[in-house]
Amino acid sequence: MPTSLPTRLPPFCPNPDCDSLRNPTTWRFKKKGFFLRDQVPRKVQRYRCNTCGRNFSSQTFRTTYWLRRADLLTPVFHRLLACSGLRQIAREVSAAHSTIQRLAERLGRHCLLFHEAHRPSAAPTEPLVLDGFRTFEHSQYWPMDLNLIVGPSHFVYGFSDAELRRSGTMRPSQREKRARLEEELGRPDPQATRKGVEELLRRVVPPNSTVNLLSDEHNAYPVAVRRLRDRTIEHATTSSRASRTPSNPLFPVNQTDHLLRHSSANHKRETIAFSKRRQGALYRAAVFVVWRNYVKSRSENRRDDPPAKQLGLIQRRLSVADVLNSRLFVHRIRVPAWVRRCYFGRIRTRAIANCVVHEASYAV
Ligand SMILES: [Zn+2]
Repeated sequence: MPTSLPTRLPPFCPNPDCDSLRNPTTWRFKKKGFFLRDQVPRKVQRYRCNTCGRNFSSQTFRTTYWLRRADLLTPVFHRLLACSGLRQIAREVSAAHSTIQRLAERLGRHCLLFHEAHRPSAAPTEPLVLDGFRTFEHSQYWPMDLNLIVGPSHFVYGFSDAELRRSGTMRPSQREKRARLEEELGRPDPQATRKGVEELLRRVVPPNSTVNLLSDEHNAYPVAVRRLRDRTIEHATTSSRASRTPSNPLFPVNQTDHLLRHSSANHKRETIAFSKRRQGALYRAAVFVVWRNYVKSRSENRRDDPPAKQLGLIQRRLSVADVLNSRLFVHRIRVPAWVRRCYFGRIRTRAIANCVVHEASYAV
C-alpha cells in the first residue's frame, strides 16, 4: 500500500462548506459503521460529521480515495518521470490508457497543492533564474512555453504557461494551414508570455520584497518586471547564444530544462507522446517540480540532499510515498488564482472545443 493515514481519527470535516471549519477545535463526528473491499485497507471506517451531516470515511483522507487500482499511484508517479507515454504505462500495469490519464491528472493536482503548501512564502533568499521551456500542445501548429523560475539551489519556485503563435521556417503549405487554423480558432494572445511571466513573478516574489532576476534577452521579460511596481526586481540578462556551461548565469534553469526534457515523454523531440492539451503538460510539470524539489538529489553522483532540504523547507529528503502520504484539499491551502485554474483543469486548448474540467464535487 503506497499510503498510510497520518492519524487514526479524521482530522477535520472534508466538506468545504461545513461550519465546523470556522471552529475546528469543537468539531465532533460519529462513527457510522464500515465497509469492506477487495484491496488493502480491506476494512474502511465510515464517519458522519455532527455539524453538517456529511458522510465520509478514512479513505477520504488518502490520496487513493475512490481508486479501484490504488496500487498504481506510486508506479505511475515514477513512470511519468521516466519518459513513458500513457499507453506504455498502461500496457506495463495492465490498465486502460484512460485510467493512467486520470491517475496522471490526480497526481498533477496533488503535486500542485503539495508545492503550494511547501514552497517559501517569504521572498526567495537566492537569485531567481527565469526561462521559457519551449514545447507544444495538440500539434506543432500550437507551440507553448512553460515559464520556469529556478534558483541556484535548483529549487523550482514555480511555473506558468504561455500559448504561442507558430513561428520559424515554414513551407508555403504550412503557412497556409496556420492561416486557416488561426482564422477558424483565433490567434494566440501576443502578450501571453508577458502576462504569464508577470503572474508567475507576482506569485513567487511577495509584495515589498527585493530579488535579483536573471534571464535571457526575451523582450517580454523587462515589460513584465516593470509592471510589478510594488516589488524591487533587479533584472540582469545573458544572451541565449552564450555557451550553456555551469559558469553561465542561467545554468540552474538550463539544467532544469535538460532534466525536464530528459524525464518527460511529452517533451521529447519528434515524439508521438506530446501533450494533447496544455493542461496535461502542466499537470505533468507539477509532478516533475515536486520530484525535483523534494525527492531528487541535486547531484545524481553525490546523492546529496534535494533542493528543498538545502533551503530548509523540509527536515529530510522525502520519498514518493511521503509525498503521497495524505490527501490535500484545495479549500484548505492558500492557492493563487492561476494555480486554482490549473488545479481545476481550466487551462483551455484552442484546438479542442470541449476541454474537460475537473468538477466532481466530492473529489475536489
Ligand atoms: Zn461537516
